[in-house]
Amino acid sequence: MCKTHVLSVKGPKAPFEKTIIERRELRANDVLIDIKFSGICHSDIHSAFDEWGGGIFPMVPGHEIAGVVSAIGTEVKRYKVGDRVGVGCFVDSCGECEYCLRGDEQYCTKGVINTYNSLDYDGNPTYGGYSQKIVVKEEFVVRIPEVLGLDVASPLLCAGVTTYSPLKKWNVSPGKKVAIVGMGGLGHLAVQYAHAMGADVTVLSQSMNKKDEAIEFGADYYFATSDPATFTELANSFDLILNTVSANLNVDAYLSMLRVDGTLVNVGAPAEPDQFSVFSLIMSRRNLAGSLVGGIRETQEMLDFSAQHGIAPKIEVIRADQVDEAYERVLRSDVRYRFVIDMSTM
Ligand code: NAP
Ligand code: ZN
Repeated sequence: MCKTHVLSVKGPKAPFEKTIIERRELRANDVLIDIKFSGICHSDIHSAFDEWGGGIFPMVPGHEIAGVVSAIGTEVKRYKVGDRVGVGCFVDSCGECEYCLRGDEQYCTKGVINTYNSLDYDGNPTYGGYSQKIVVKEEFVVRIPEVLGLDVASPLLCAGVTTYSPLKKWNVSPGKKVAIVGMGGLGHLAVQYAHAMGADVTVLSQSMNKKDEAIEFGADYYFATSDPATFTELANSFDLILNTVSANLNVDAYLSMLRVDGTLVNVGAPAEPDQFSVFSLIMSRRNLAGSLVGGIRETQEMLDFSAQHGIAPKIEVIRADQVDEAYERVLRSDVRYRFVIDMSTM
């Protein structure tokens, strides 16, 4: 067993405390990772506040993990000590079902094991990346390309793959008109990927405040959703709308901006259910969809794509004692565009 310092919360909305937990003894196919940076995803907040229900406390959030391999199990083949690696939203799956076999481990029929706030297949709670060390099966570890700093690489492990995956799945390519709703941690990466894939990219943000940065990230157009005229001006415009907003939206209003056969894909995950009228779908044969992170092979592909296209999040690095404050700022949409915890400050 290996002791490690972590940031944990005792219960919903409790402040973060520095505590110590034990990571499991290395199994033959495990790697021990010294975590250097850990991103703060809005899902960490939904989870730590128990907004989605079923929270397992004490909780150590964090599924945007970047670090260096510091020990390996006897049968590890892919990694050696010193390798720069990442871990995303999940750390185990059955490996045998049709979804695991095709690289969609996140939809494993036995149930994927999340990096934190899950019980593993032995019934032990999983603890995430707000931690100095983590032990993970090598199959659930990815390699971070040399050109990406570990600090900017960390948010790619969730925010990166969560936006890259649906853009690929829905064939974003030159000529496609794509809108990204919400330009936060996920959204600002989605803009960069959609642009790199050749699409015509529109950002739909609450205010005009982020316009200049949206253009820098590769947006072609930018509109404020606080202005009702946006929805009439953009009626029937998009092939794909990717919704990255953490709160409920007027779904009918967003569907009205899709062309015939267009798709609204939700990755934003508000706790309360959304409502919409089926007529918003029927009258233009539109689609309403959702997407959960991305598989391991796809996560590696996204990292390599990011390195190749010079895509990286814009981050603000914080100390371990600033996480509560960072959560408050994310909730106020006052983050440009991802907080990353420097784990050496534990
Ligand atoms: P974030 O950094 O807080 O970004 C969310 C953005 O949504 C904000 O920056 C803001 O952008 C917009 N927004 C916030 N509140 C709003 C409101 N009331 N009305 C309209 N727009 C609002 O969060 P994130 O880390 O990107 O995560 C976004 C959501 O995705 C969360 O719900 C998270 O749990 C979910 N998520 C899902 C997956 C998945 O696999 N499906 C993976 C990761 C995260 P503007 O200022 O531009 O309007
Ligand atoms: Zn996340």
